[in-house]
Amino acid sequence: MIQKLPFWQNWAKNVSCSPSMIYYPKNEQEVVEIIQKAKAEHKRVRVVGNGHSFTNLAKTNQIMLSLSEMQGLIGMDEEKMEATAWAGTSINKMNSLLFDRGYNLANLGDIDVQSIAGATATGTHGTGTAFGIVSTQIQKLTLVTAAGEIVECSAAENPDLFQAARVSLGALGIITRMTFKVVPAYRLDYRSSKAKLADTLDRLEEYNANNRNFEFYWFPYTKTVQLKMSNETTDKIKDNATMRYINQHLMENTLFQGMCNIGKWFPNSYPLISKIAAIGVSKEHKINDSHKVYASPRNVRFKEMEYNVPREHFKEIMERMVAKINEQHYRVYFPIECRFVKGDDIWLSPAYQRESAYIAIHVDHRTPHDPYFRDIEEIMMEFGGRPHWGKMHKRSAENLSTAYPMWGAFTELRAKMDPEGMFLNDHLEEVFGVEQPAQLPV
Ligand SMILES: Cc1cc2nc3c(=O)[nH]c(=O)nc-3n(C[C@H](O)[C@H](O)[C@H](O)COP(=O)(O)OP(=O)(O)OC[C@H]3O[C@@H](n4cnc5c(N)ncnc54)[C@H](O)[C@@H]3O)c2cc1C
Repeated sequence: MIQKLPFWQNWAKNVSCSPSMIYYPKNEQEVVEIIQKAKAEHKRVRVVGNGHSFTNLAKTNQIMLSLSEMQGLIGMDEEKMEATAWAGTSINKMNSLLFDRGYNLANLGDIDVQSIAGATATGTHGTGTAFGIVSTQIQKLTLVTAAGEIVECSAAENPDLFQAARVSLGALGIITRMTFKVVPAYRLDYRSSKAKLADTLDRLEEYNANNRNFEFYWFPYTKTVQLKMSNETTDKIKDNATMRYINQHLMENTLFQGMCNIGKWFPNSYPLISKIAAIGVSKEHKINDSHKVYASPRNVRFKEMEYNVPREHFKEIMERMVAKINEQHYRVYFPIECRFVKGDDIWLSPAYQRESAYIAIHVDHRTPHDPYFRDIEEIMMEFGGRPHWGKMHKRSAENLSTAYPMWGAFTELRAKMDPEGMFLNDHLEEVFGVEQPAQLPV
């Protein structure tokens, strides 16, 4: 269960570290033993999922723990429509295990390679105003705490811990088991088309009301957006492999990667690249099982910042962003992704108690992201924006505490559950404003 790992890097290659040790436990008892040993030796532990976060959440020079060997379904309660899985299970594995039994998750984000624990720990979300972030589908969690104890939580059992642990940033303990609400397997009819930004902003309510999952991408320095709409259907599968290859691999990955390379060598070509990308958006229509529609391959490596904003301010924020980009002429050609999510009651969920919109901005992973990210973050903050925990941001406890009504409750619970700061690292100390945990490990 032990492996020396001299070097760890996240997907975007913007975070790397050299943990002293990485553990791959195979069961809950091994997780307990690792935590008890770390406690006895005053060592810090960071648990990592599949490394798809852009922030320093998993960074450690001490113990790294991965549940990649703890994957698969533990049980299925067909009456309650609930499925329990090991927390290290990847979303794509979870999808196929559920689908084999006739079920799906009700909503997902746009990739499926994250672990279920890692995705939910940062508040990962998809789109659709009738759906909350993925963590809202969690019914029950099992954690190994800093004391090395196994604790369960749900709406009925340890309810405060449940509200905190569904989006925990890996700061409350090692989540080992997760129970999700599932729905009968369903198909999605997916349509992509081109539209004008101004028209789209005017028709947002209509698009959100008339579609199960609606999102759009705006191409900087153009008036063009790509609309993506999905709705449930019982029609038969219509998903042409050649068209899928052309759209998902050739256009969105291979050609776009080529354009990113041009952007790197010819930095002033960015408005042209964005315009060509907008021209390349084609009409697409496909029908497939839902989990095959949500996820797309993402081979072009980028850095990303994403903000949750109150939905009622979305249009104004977009207009401010467009004006800022046109005025400052940042070197940006990645389209800006806009999604819509229902509010929830999870303490550190960016969608806590508000109907939300998410706005995501990206740059090639080799390109400097400031001042672009910094200036856009300022606009987001003016409107009460809350950052996606897994994506780049410059926020700290000082200003996060006022953005989250349940901030104090979360940080108190965290301090109570982990008084020695075993699950902290530099990033989390800054995020939670922890200066000197009692008995800071060496
Ligand atoms: C190409 C790409 C596409 C993306 N698309 C979307 C999207 O559509 N929607 C969206 O919202 N986000 C999206 N993301 C962000 C991504 O979903 C999150 O960053 C997510 O947290 C990554 O999951 P992971 O398994 O890689 O976790 P990691 O990044 O490895 O870890 C994330 C956090 O989870 C914690 N954690 C992991 N396992 C456990 C555990 N067992 N117990 C407790 N804590 C744990 C870690 O400590 C860390 O704090 C995308 C990222 C990329 C790179």
